[in-house]
Amino acid sequence: MILSSYDSVRISIHRFCLWILFPFAVPQFCAIAAHEKDLAVGIAGHAFDHLGNIGNQADVAAASGANIIYVSGLGALGYQGLPPEQEFARQKNAVEAYLAHAKKQGIRLAIGYICATSIVKLNTFDSNWSVGFRAGFHSRPSSWRQVDRNGKVLKSWYGGDYEPACMNNPDWRAYEKFMVREQLSAGCDGIFFDNPTVHPEGCYCEHCMRAFDRFLGGTGIPRARTSTPLREDATARQARTLAELRDYVVAHPKEFMQFRCTIARDFFAEMRAYARTIKRDTLITANNSLNSADVLFSQCRTYAYNIHEMSKAEDYVVVEDQSSQPRTLSNGNVIEYRPAYKQLTAISHGKPVIAVTIADGDYHTAPDLVRLAMAEAAANGASYLSWPTWPANQRQRMIDAIRPQADFMRKHAALFKDASARADVVLFLPFRKWAETGNCLPSRIAAALTRGNIQYEVMCEDQMTAKDNARRGESPLPPPLSRTKVFIADPHDLNPTERDLVERFTGSGGILVSPEGQSPDALLGKVKDAIGATSIVSHGPPTLRAVVWDQAGRTIVHCLNLNIQKFSSFEDKITPATDVELEVRVSFRPVHEVRILSAERPSNEKLQFTVRSDAGRSVVKTVVPRLNIAAILVIE
Ligand SMILES: [Zn+2]
Repeated sequence: MILSSYDSVRISIHRFCLWILFPFAVPQFCAIAAHEKDLAVGIAGHAFDHLGNIGNQADVAAASGANIIYVSGLGALGYQGLPPEQEFARQKNAVEAYLAHAKKQGIRLAIGYICATSIVKLNTFDSNWSVGFRAGFHSRPSSWRQVDRNGKVLKSWYGGDYEPACMNNPDWRAYEKFMVREQLSAGCDGIFFDNPTVHPEGCYCEHCMRAFDRFLGGTGIPRARTSTPLREDATARQARTLAELRDYVVAHPKEFMQFRCTIARDFFAEMRAYARTIKRDTLITANNSLNSADVLFSQCRTYAYNIHEMSKAEDYVVVEDQSSQPRTLSNGNVIEYRPAYKQLTAISHGKPVIAVTIADGDYHTAPDLVRLAMAEAAANGASYLSWPTWPANQRQRMIDAIRPQADFMRKHAALFKDASARADVVLFLPFRKWAETGNCLPSRIAAALTRGNIQYEVMCEDQMTAKDNARRGESPLPPPLSRTKVFIADPHDLNPTERDLVERFTGSGGILVSPEGQSPDALLGKVKDAIGATSIVSHGPPTLRAVVWDQAGRTIVHCLNLNIQKFSSFEDKITPATDVELEVRVSFRPVHEVRILSAERPSNEKLQFTVRSDAGRSVVKTVVPRLNIAAILVIE
């Protein structure tokens, strides 16, 4: 069955991937604006509709509260090179009917799967193509593949029948555009590009070499010193200059690595521009990988998965299958996704971040853990992507368990809108450092800050510019630096502009803490000393997380109980947190009320509280009587 083979490729790819400007701006805002509400935190319920041989689960997804589904549609037919014309038409009709039905069930957006690089079963790939279809290409699919520095085909790093096509190859792009058109005309509202990756050795095909030559010209890096530019018209000359460019690449591995990280971005940009000629508001996203918490830098270096680059041409950022499903392990260790959410938000140019997390390589997640993951995402200004692809005997039970959380978040979506995260400390993530090292120290510091229950934000180099035209009373510092007292950055990582900015920050009373030479945990003590009075003090178990956000006239505290253990794909066990005393600093007074909102409690329950003044701020003290999974405190 097609879905099954599709998923076996897809999942085997995940398993093998364990480690793993501008013209984009204007159209991207159009599509985001059109779908802004659908993608808003709390409103959006993202879900895959297929897993292994369980496919077409739109009804189940909708029943569990999802409203944006990721469908294979015609995607599997695409990477297998297309069936005979009649069969393709039959399957397209089936997809159209399926998506029309899904929309009637409440699905707002259907995002169609297209693999950005896969040619599956090359020897039969083009066997069903008509003469007319074939005429649309200049070369056979076998020459669309990524090649090494000697022009020899690079074998798949995924194994199996998978052959990696080059995203710079114009014929492959033409084929992908055909698939984009078919998916959109079958009823999809957007495209999810899977595996937008370059071979770890890098592709040296003539199209990549020509693009690399342009890249060198356009980035301030000296142009390749070829005797003449690469030309298509003179075969002998072309061969020589191609060889010269390949030699240049070998001598300049860093520049080549940087170039490789722009290939997927440029591919998305072209696909998006094309898609919007067919459907004006088409959303483009991709699998941004990040399968493991410690690969933010190294996945750029190995597989050219550079989220900072890719997100420039995506409408929102999907991150798949990190093993950080929030939970407590039987040895008491706590796993969570907050550090990844914070870093992703910093490097994704303000695009919505959507993540799917798993535990122990298991694509099924037990119901309370799904609810916890949904609440964790919202607490970090992001959305969760679920797999409501359950065996028939679990469906109703899972729907019943998950739906209340989805309904709760939708009902209270206003709590997630226009809120700013409290930042007792801001962590600098110089993302450009990936080109020098695969070791991302800020990732480990973010994990330590999360474990320490510290309210923090991450900022990358994009945000490090001063606002010299700041109005009276407004900070000249960019947010979130303008909202914090403590900044963690290694002075060696700062360029002159950033150093000036940090001098302004320290000149106005801010404290710079350098992580240099310290373990993240040792750094934590230093950071706590620098912060002094924290935004929130929780007298609860170490598995409790409290995340503070501010909106005009109110403070919102997301409370998460991470003390839930996974027993199996469908069973988990909650150890509730009880009588948790919280002290929260708020910037307004008087404080009228403290409400607790949760899918697990009666609505709008008021909590007793006391208020004291401390250094010009109100400190609100209250007690959360019981927390099973998640709740939100609203202090007004
Ligand atoms: Zn190439």
